[in-house]
Amino acid sequence: MAKLHENTATELLRMLSAGETTPVEVMATYLERIGKLEPKIHALTFVNKDAALKEAERAAKELKGAKGKKKPLLGMPIVVKECISTTGIQTTCCSKILQGYIPPYDATVVTRLKQAGAIIIAKSNMDEFAMGSSTERSCYGPTMNPWDVNRVPGGSSGGSGAAIAAREAPLALGSDTGGSIRCPAAYCGVAGIKSTYGRVSRYGLVAYANSLEQIGPITITARDSAMLLEVIAGKDIADSTSVDVPVDKYSQGIASLEGLKVGIPKEFFGEGLKADVKASVEKAVDKMKELGATTQEVSLPSIKYALPTYYLIAMCEASSNLARFDGLRYGLRVDVPKGNYDAMFSKTRQEGFGPEVRRRIILGTYALSAGYYDMFYVKALKARTIIQDDFKKALAKVDVLVGPTMPTTAFEIGTKVDDPLTMYLEDILTVPINLAGVPSLSVPVGADKAGMPIGMQVMGNFFKEQQVLGVGMALEDVLQFHKKLPPLAGA
Ligand code: GLN
Repeated sequence: MAKLHENTATELLRMLSAGETTPVEVMATYLERIGKLEPKIHALTFVNKDAALKEAERAAKELKGAKGKKKPLLGMPIVVKECISTTGIQTTCCSKILQGYIPPYDATVVTRLKQAGAIIIAKSNMDEFAMGSSTERSCYGPTMNPWDVNRVPGGSSGGSGAAIAAREAPLALGSDTGGSIRCPAAYCGVAGIKSTYGRVSRYGLVAYANSLEQIGPITITARDSAMLLEVIAGKDIADSTSVDVPVDKYSQGIASLEGLKVGIPKEFFGEGLKADVKASVEKAVDKMKELGATTQEVSLPSIKYALPTYYLIAMCEASSNLARFDGLRYGLRVDVPKGNYDAMFSKTRQEGFGPEVRRRIILGTYALSAGYYDMFYVKALKARTIIQDDFKKALAKVDVLVGPTMPTTAFEIGTKVDDPLTMYLEDILTVPINLAGVPSLSVPVGADKAGMPIGMQVMGNFFKEQQVLGVGMALEDVLQFHKKLPPLAGA
């Protein structure tokens, strides 16, 4: 019989309902795993140990009393990324400037999770303010990839990705501004979805670049992501960019891949793509054909502009969003002689922000300044519209697009962190989707020669999450990657 932690979240929920396990047993199992595995992978920044166990006891009582209809995630432990606000639990964005900050309110997604019966087991490590692709830029130090602890887990939600891969929890939340859910999902061999812009409330997510980002699931399977997305998605009056479109039954997936039209964007298979990644994605596409899908090549000619477009827009928005961290209201304050507020602001910001965050604030402020605004920011917005049009045209011809999530597999810790441009290049296949605003799921489709996981993106039209997730479910049913655990997480 499978050990408790070897189950998917969907299976665990079934076992809880059937009385084959209890919320207390589930919570104790994962807390024990955290104790054993954290020294090796450092995925978490805070473990909510005592409170989570108490909550599990409460859930156990509730589950016993619940006849028939029960809360959809009752008793399920979940890891929440450090940039998502949680009442009474630190929310630091892994930045020195927010150390010690404990929010007095929950993000809407957290409220919905609690209403659904889920229990926060821990907060997860990330690149400072979600700026990065490797989780090496956290004030708490890096996270290690459970498949090879010398390598990065991807970023910026690398803590959530590593925690799921190591089975420190059955469910996790990440956030994705330019790939931060899909990159760690791909590098850690798990699933994750960035939904349509506006599908999930951003209220309580500490903003990095608000026109691009979404909170979303990082889970063992696409089916688990579907189940979690059903709980967190939907209109929220506290976030005016959330959209009032009905939330589908994502976990039902789609009937089959029979007749599904799949577009293969040729630009996703260009220069720099590692041979193993290409081969695994092509094999997965063949599987889709065996399941009845038809494929055709499509083109997204403007995505060659996506990387500079993304970085300009993201840095401009970041420079504005991060202006609020001034030493007056949150976290760190560097004291200076009385009354000299300018000195206090600049000393606090200089000490509180890491080098990458400072670089982006400076570049973003420059691009937004009066003399350069039209040349940089406005131009980037125009390019964004053209990129979005490419996606709209392609998705008018086919149901979904598929391609690699990342051009390579997880790289070694320390090899890119001092070279910002090389690090930005990591995002070449993920940022176009955020610029377009469409949904994209990353599912594991194989591994390279060194055994490092490879992820494939399934991109769909606006609000077609059910279709995208359905494709992921059909694929994982045949590929069964989730049955393979990293050696370190096995026993
Ligand atoms: N790596 C990208 C960046 O640094 C994306 C990060 C994210 O999605 N939060 O901006």
